[in-house]
Amino acid sequence: MTSTWVGTSWKMTKTLAEARAFARGLAAAEPALPAEVQPFVIPPATALAAVRAELPASSRVLVGAQDAHWEDAGPWTGEVSVPQVADAGARLVEIGHSERREAFGETDERIRLKVHATLRHSLVPLVCVGEPAAVRAAGGQAAYVAAQTRAAFDGVAAGTRVLVAYEPVWAIGEGGRPATPDDVEAPVAAIRAATADLDAHVLYGGSVDGENAPALLDVPGVGGLFVGRAAWDLAGFLTILRVA
Ligand code: PEP
Repeated sequence: MTSTWVGTSWKMTKTLAEARAFARGLAAAEPALPAEVQPFVIPPATALAAVRAELPASSRVLVGAQDAHWEDAGPWTGEVSVPQVADAGARLVEIGHSERREAFGETDERIRLKVHATLRHSLVPLVCVGEPAAVRAAGGQAAYVAAQTRAAFDGVAAGTRVLVAYEPVWAIGEGGRPATPDDVEAPVAAIRAATADLDAHVLYGGSVDGENAPALLDVPGVGGLFVGRAAWDLAGFLTILRVA
């Protein structure tokens, strides 16, 4: 995986009409994007199939799901499975975002089960790891994210293709502040060491925008960016894709 991966999760935003319009605009802009960039978009489950349908079959934009259950089917009200998101057009499954870890009780064990379910169906897991502010203040960030990473990929075969997003909790969302390249270097090195036997690509996420993107991409070991708010409008996403 040598490309620079640049993607956005829309979290719980966008109507179907908004999602379709974004995807149409992205498809129109795609031919002029840098050839070495691998774009991806992670809509809410309600818009997954519509976004995929708006992209031409030949599009290199990959579509992902924000989460998926570890079972293939069954009495799990409110959940969607990996086969279901694959059927809707997903090629990636985001797993273990800090909002899910914090607000929905996502444990390391569930994350590991979801990684295995994703791989069982030949989709690529995008596992989010990142330390809370208190861990950073104590200087424990590299060990913390290494442990999260090892737990997520426990039992995964050597050479398996995976994505990991380093997303420090203190850098994400409203009130977050972007990490500096110095903040990012050691945790990313720790993630890379923890995935040394895998075909892993490590992204940075947390308050990325068009201005800080180039410096964050220059950090050794960073192979892409995972963007929230700054990429929710198409112009913002295109700006970051173009500077990557
Ligand atoms: C995120 O929540 O994963 C994220 C990267 O958000 P933002 O870019 O808005 O900080």
